[in-house]
Amino acid sequence: MPPFSGTGPARGGRRLNARGAGGGGPAPLLQVAGLRVGLPGAAGLAVAGLDLHVAAGEAVAVVGASGSGKSTTALALARLLPAAAVVTADRLRLGGLDLLSLDERGMAAVRGRRIAIAFQDGAGALHPTRTIGDQVAEAVLRRRAVGWRAARAAAVEALAAVGLPGAGERARAYPHELSGGGCQRVMLAIALALQPDLLVADEPTASLDPTGAARVLDRLEAEQVGRGMAVLLLTHDLGVAAGFARRLAVMHAGRVVEAGPVAAVFAQPRHPYTARLLAAAPRLQGPPVPAVLEPDPPPPPHGCAYAAACPFADAHCQAEVPPLLRLLEDAAADGRQVACWHQDRIAPVGGTRHGG
Ligand code: SF4
Repeated sequence: MPPFSGTGPARGGRRLNARGAGGGGPAPLLQVAGLRVGLPGAAGLAVAGLDLHVAAGEAVAVVGASGSGKSTTALALARLLPAAAVVTADRLRLGGLDLLSLDERGMAAVRGRRIAIAFQDGAGALHPTRTIGDQVAEAVLRRRAVGWRAARAAAVEALAAVGLPGAGERARAYPHELSGGGCQRVMLAIALALQPDLLVADEPTASLDPTGAARVLDRLEAEQVGRGMAVLLLTHDLGVAAGFARRLAVMHAGRVVEAGPVAAVFAQPRHPYTARLLAAAPRLQGPPVPAVLEPDPPPPPHGCAYAAACPFADAHCQAEVPPLLRLLEDAAADGRQVACWHQDRIAPVGGTRHGG
């Protein structure tokens, strides 16, 4: 018998309820439950039962090491994976739409206006033989009834707003004439010009210097607060996540293993992997620290994917995958969710573990 399952007392007195979008209140804009993605030629699942929710106008950061499944999740949300990929989910809904039931025409209407992705690989996602100004202007025209001249002017403004130096001049350039960071900014300008309900920004600051990164995050926040756009920020950088989002989801081996308000998760992680990440980034109270998350050993075929690296692993962990459950009786929990059979053993950062 597991220490907790369904609704009931957990070890150590904390209670957790069954998996869910969490929180009560209005239905989230994005609801993902049990998302699984198998990629052709890959051993195991790239996304292995991911649960996630984002409310309208909310900023949520998903942190995880390279290979944890963040980018594959983004592509799955917009149904942009190769046809050979196998995607299943218990629930994949955006603003009342069941994304898995839509045909390609339906998804084409959703992309851009409802959900837009600013890809990490901007150079690969942009059209190579069209100027960047034209590509941003086309996005402007999808949302605004203006002429081409006005759209081009708006495109230059959009490029300047994401911090592209010399935007007026650069608007006439082709993607191959820009740096990786420049292409990322163009991708972001295109995504923002589409005015989506939900923007998925995949490592939007990875190729930028601190000043450029701050400019991009300010721009995202302006759209999130000013227009009520929800933002799903995918990053390996805990400093970026802490500085931008109010809520955090920690991803490991294709699953969310812990989620909750950033301040609460940082103050007292409940998953051993989260605790390890935070221990690797000791200056979270000061200037942002770009903590590089190292990939873990390949997950075992059964049980918890973190068992091979976890100091608390036991036979139960190696036999059964822990579901993502919500903490109920922790006053500071505020919607905390944890996927760990022994979450009660994790002590606050800097403290000592107990009960183990
Ligand atoms: S379920 Fe077990 S192996 Fe997995 S993180 Fe929790 S204690 Fe560690």
